[in-house]
Amino acid sequence: MPLNDLSLLKTKCYLNGVWVDSVDNSFIDVINPALLQKVASVPNLTGRETHDAINAAELALKDWSKRTASERSELLKKWFVLIKENIDDLAWLITLEQGKPLLESQREVKYAASFVEWFAEESKRVYGEVIPQHQSSKRLLVIKQPVGVTAAITPWNFPAAMITRKAAAALAAGCTMIVKPAPETPLTALALAELADRAGIPAGVFNVITGDAVAIGNVLCDSPVVRKLSFTGSTNIGRLLMSQCAHSLKKLSLELGGNAPFIVFNDADIDAAVEGAIAAKFRNTGQTCVCANRIYVQSEVYKAFSEKFTQAVSLLKVGTGTDTETTIGPLINKAAVLKAMDHVNDAVAKGAKLVAGGQQLLMSEDIVGYFYQPTVLIDVDASMKIAREETFGPVAPLFKFDGVDDVIEQANDTEFGLAAYFYGRDVSLIWKVSEALEYGMVGVNTGIISTEVAPFGGIKASGLGREGGHQGIEEYLETKYVCMEI
Ligand code: ADP
Repeated sequence: MPLNDLSLLKTKCYLNGVWVDSVDNSFIDVINPALLQKVASVPNLTGRETHDAINAAELALKDWSKRTASERSELLKKWFVLIKENIDDLAWLITLEQGKPLLESQREVKYAASFVEWFAEESKRVYGEVIPQHQSSKRLLVIKQPVGVTAAITPWNFPAAMITRKAAAALAAGCTMIVKPAPETPLTALALAELADRAGIPAGVFNVITGDAVAIGNVLCDSPVVRKLSFTGSTNIGRLLMSQCAHSLKKLSLELGGNAPFIVFNDADIDAAVEGAIAAKFRNTGQTCVCANRIYVQSEVYKAFSEKFTQAVSLLKVGTGTDTETTIGPLINKAAVLKAMDHVNDAVAKGAKLVAGGQQLLMSEDIVGYFYQPTVLIDVDASMKIAREETFGPVAPLFKFDGVDDVIEQANDTEFGLAAYFYGRDVSLIWKVSEALEYGMVGVNTGIISTEVAPFGGIKASGLGREGGHQGIEEYLETKYVCMEI
């Protein structure tokens, strides 16, 4: 394995600053989705170890929450530097367990590191308030304090960034955290823990536990010590966790599914729109919650756009993430391939036309993983499954529309509200559409919107709360009002 530093391949959990193995020889295999080969195994821990992790995080909170912002910031900056220094190894681990092309993995590591740097800086800007008093004998203050012990449950599509986006904000605010990564991608999480350890982040402040999602999730949700849960994943599991947290009345951040519309108006720069649509649709093989899921094209430019878009899709190269030519890696698992197939078959059965792709791919005798051709469907309409459900795969459905109000209505006709995109040049149209789209994030003339400096998050069934930006740290702070009689 071409890791420069083999000690970044961790196969034990990181609890209370100690590497912990399974006591009953129970493990989860990590499978490379391109080759279907086992990469490593990690402990299949359960509720018992989760209690240990919570106790450790509670103990560590006493000191960590009392440190000055600048002390916490120093340690986070060391973590940031170490992540950047180990970019190649972290990218390799991501590609191995998740499948995305190495270049995308490197980009993810930079993105992941950017949250650590950003929140190291933001930790120093947690300001309170002095409120003009309502009675002359009183003085009114507002202070911000860390919420306490927190937990994160994270997905496999961004194995590094979905962790640092939560953990860096939590640690910067003075909270401690227990992370349960996705079973598909624990190695990146554990490598991040190793780097946090090397950075000198104290024992118990940042913990990573792998294992039984239901058992670990139950303990984290039930515990009155855990004051906040941040989850990124499917809407169904988000709903379940929210209900499980009702008893302990936890603060929640939920970053759930999307069904992003991507609208191309008649006056759009078509070449730019094609480039943006390719980026918004096919990044990470279509497996991001902000991926364009429905591409609406106004009638005058429908033909030109669909031809140029299909041509651009034909240039995408499917392969293993470690092949430097590859632009489209495998999907994460068999269920993901079946979902793409189901959406395509359903659309074709209801009258859509397949103009590119549409097949599962067997690359070679050795490369037998979960590959699916980049696919374009035209003449898609609202009756098809693909219009309602998130495909989470490399399938681009094109819808034709005439009027602006009509497309806004169609774009909003979904339970989700995470990201939306549109291309057009008319300034008043840009304002009107930006305001009318019922989404947490809108990309105008761009297909890439994510950055550590802006608030990421959704409305409706896409979730609660924001990550990144100055808003991101607020999610880990309580507001305390102090009323003083003088
Ligand atoms: P996906 O279907 O894309 O894997 P999920 O929402 O199932 O998305 O998974 C996201 C994260 O939630 C993963 O870390 C997974 O292990 C975790 N998870 C899944 N089910 C549960 C559950 N019942 N309780 C706690 N965590 C869960």
